Amino acid sequence: MTTTSSADLFTRAQKVIPSGVNSPVRAFGSVGGTPPFLTSAKGALLHDADGREYVDLVGSWGPMILGHANDQVVDAVREAAGRGLSFGAPQPGEVTLAEEVASRIAPIEQLRLVNSGTEATMSALRVARAATGRDVVVKFAGCYHGHVDALLAEAGSGVATFAMPGSAGVTASTARDTVVLPYGDRDAVTALFAERGGEIAAVITEAAPANMGVVPPREEGGVGFNRFLSETAHASGALLISDEVLTGFRASREGYYGIDGPTGTHDAWAPDLMTFGKVIGGGLPVGAFGGRRDLMGLLAPAGPVYQAGTLSGNPLATAAGLATFAGLDDAAYSTLGAASRTLQQLVADAFTTAGVPHVIQSAGTLFSVFFREEPVVGYEDAKAQDTAAFTRFFHAMLEAGVYLPPSAFEAWFVSTAHTEEVLDRIAEALPGAAKAAAAA
Ligand SMILES: *Cc1c(COP(=O)(O)O)cnc(C)c1O
Repeated sequence: MTTTSSADLFTRAQKVIPSGVNSPVRAFGSVGGTPPFLTSAKGALLHDADGREYVDLVGSWGPMILGHANDQVVDAVREAAGRGLSFGAPQPGEVTLAEEVASRIAPIEQLRLVNSGTEATMSALRVARAATGRDVVVKFAGCYHGHVDALLAEAGSGVATFAMPGSAGVTASTARDTVVLPYGDRDAVTALFAERGGEIAAVITEAAPANMGVVPPREEGGVGFNRFLSETAHASGALLISDEVLTGFRASREGYYGIDGPTGTHDAWAPDLMTFGKVIGGGLPVGAFGGRRDLMGLLAPAGPVYQAGTLSGNPLATAAGLATFAGLDDAAYSTLGAASRTLQQLVADAFTTAGVPHVIQSAGTLFSVFFREEPVVGYEDAKAQDTAAFTRFFHAMLEAGVYLPPSAFEAWFVSTAHTEEVLDRIAEALPGAAKAAAAA
């Protein structure tokens, strides 16, 4: 095998793959430079085609919550592979995975497995529109729900990274059925429902937004924003879809609902539909949507809402998901929480010492760093950070062997493999990178 550098691979990739990547943020477009082409990963460490090693803070954007190439997960996938890669017929792992999700998340009475978070939100919207006989969907600026046509307006994630208002190729009629409101703005929600309540099929929100950086929902008068949305939607016969693709089984054992729902801090309330992805597949392509039995019962073949997938419920994917859940016990969440808190403190110390304006926000074990001083309550705030300082910081960290999300609008992902030793390596890199961020 001849050694091929990341630079060579990127040149070749750009000829045959648009921008050289299969998902936009990977192209390093907003930070510049050549993305390392990764060849292997183990635990919290990544290795690239140039022979370099990095401490990983991306975790494949969430799924690798037990670290890379976790022995139990890899063994489970190997065993499953020996029994057949795909059947296109029911298989036992689907049942066990669905039961596992339902046992953790109280509002999930039934769920269907799909192949991505995008498919999950797209399908949940279809169910909500069928159930209500209405067209309009309400979403919040800075929330990302995958690349579903109707949900790309003012979205987070890569859409935020590249400062895009939405996406070309989405028809005017699709965009017309989507109303975008500022995140957390209760008056705007109330006013919209007063005016158009009878047209609204659903409100969709990230349970705790984490694709514009982490922006936890706020309480007012003891009522959390999600519960407020549920009550407001229901008063007009609309549904609430809570997107936990990112927060699910990461923010806590029961996702953000475990923090925000009746077992957490708020009185009885529940989303009508919920979506999952990322952690639930442990690194293989899995998403899920589920919720109230009467709504899920609308799906074909029993009901009129068509939804299907050649590879849905794939046996390798369910094996990876189940092995990941098996590792996600209470001890795992306390390890994750401790790693997350330690890292937040290390960043705060380094930035304070170097004089870098920053605010760190968290939702359970999930957190992100904003390059500005004031708290971020919505998308306008998130956009008003010093992305140039982030870029300097990002490259200094990469140079020092720490692989951060290549965007100021993303959460930093730790895993149970982020041991003290690994965190020490980040601690060594931080002071120099903070200095680089400070030097304009
Ligand atoms: C990642 C994400 C999605 C999309 O999931 P994909 O598997 O990338 O399609 C949807 N919603 C949220 C909140 C996400 O973070």
